[in-house]
Amino acid sequence: MYGSIKEYLQQELAAIKEAGLFKGERIINSPQDAEITLTTGQKVLNFCMNNYLGLSNNSQLVAAAKEALDSRGFGMSSVRFICGTQDLHKTLEQKIAEFFGTEDTILYAAAFDANGGVFEPLFGEEDAIISDSLNHASIIDGVRLSKAARYRYNNADMADLEQQLIAAQKHRFKIIVTDGVFSMDGNVAPMDKINELAKKYDALIMVDECHSAGVVGKTGRGVTELFNIRGEVDIITGTLGKAFGGAIGGFTTGRKEIIEMLRQRSRPYLFSNSIPPVVANAGIKMFDMMNETSSLQDQLHDNTDYFVEKMLAAGFDIKPTKSAICAVMLYDAKLSQEFATKLLDEGIYVIGFYYPVVPKGEARIRVQLSAAHKREHLDHAINAFTKVGKALGVLK
Ligand SMILES: *Cc1c(COP(=O)(O)O)cnc(C)c1O
Repeated sequence: MYGSIKEYLQQELAAIKEAGLFKGERIINSPQDAEITLTTGQKVLNFCMNNYLGLSNNSQLVAAAKEALDSRGFGMSSVRFICGTQDLHKTLEQKIAEFFGTEDTILYAAAFDANGGVFEPLFGEEDAIISDSLNHASIIDGVRLSKAARYRYNNADMADLEQQLIAAQKHRFKIIVTDGVFSMDGNVAPMDKINELAKKYDALIMVDECHSAGVVGKTGRGVTELFNIRGEVDIITGTLGKAFGGAIGGFTTGRKEIIEMLRQRSRPYLFSNSIPPVVANAGIKMFDMMNETSSLQDQLHDNTDYFVEKMLAAGFDIKPTKSAICAVMLYDAKLSQEFATKLLDEGIYVIGFYYPVVPKGEARIRVQLSAAHKREHLDHAINAFTKVGKALGVLK
């Protein structure tokens, strides 16, 4: 009986709206790209997508997806270990391992599932998980599902990490867990230091490369390339839903015994459907493209450098970034919303973030750069930011 909960939900929803925290959705009726059309008819430049390499509507990936539709059909109707594994899934797993310089890979429906299913099979009561305070929600949920002891260190704070490692020495296995790039600030985890501490205190390392794979490092191999520690990270999780084509799908790649154990015991793998052939084949094509050239990374890095340099020159307060995420600091929650609304009027689609998504008093607009952005798109955005910045008194 849908009874008293209805009223309760109505009140809660009203409270969410009242607090200004209601998440509405703008509806796009064009493919995902640098330029999109909204159902309002407005054409805007997109600076809030995770489409870092501009591959979401790439013609080669679309062709690979169509080819798989014809040769392998639409859906798998099975989990992997019953009858949900095609040659395509195995090939894609191997390509991912080659890309990251790891031993083996296991696919999931999403990185959320990869993170949700990685801790519980590997770490029990005697073990410790030492996690960065700004790690992604899916890591936090995954850690909760394991019986291991939990330690938390302040974001990228290596002195604090060392303290936590010392406190965790009594445990059997220890693992340090971090995002590669933190999505709100765009900062990169100090993997060289983390690697040193892991060796010193006998801990494993896990990195979530969702915002860093394809993006950071000269050829986009992620944080292990950036810090020259390829092959030294034990577990890497990542997504096919951001830089790598943007459709859907996640993976865990790393040491072969770890991956083998996940195939035996990881619940989101054992109890959830296999990714469709179209996604697997487009993924294979995508990694082949990455092996041919790193021109998309070059373009992305150029675009990011250009945008950050011009925004700093215009007088904006920008968080130091080594990724394709650029946080334009406004500090005030209301201002961040007004700013984003005015930018949309100027044809620039970005989102203003404020507490509780970011710390109190640290409201900002997050700009996400892409290899798909042309120089004129960047100039348009910089000019719009400058115009709105002056109108709202952020710039003199
Ligand atoms: C986006 C993201 C995820 C989730 O990825 P999906 O494949 O969309 O589930 C996990 N971790 C981090 C750090 C992310 O940014």
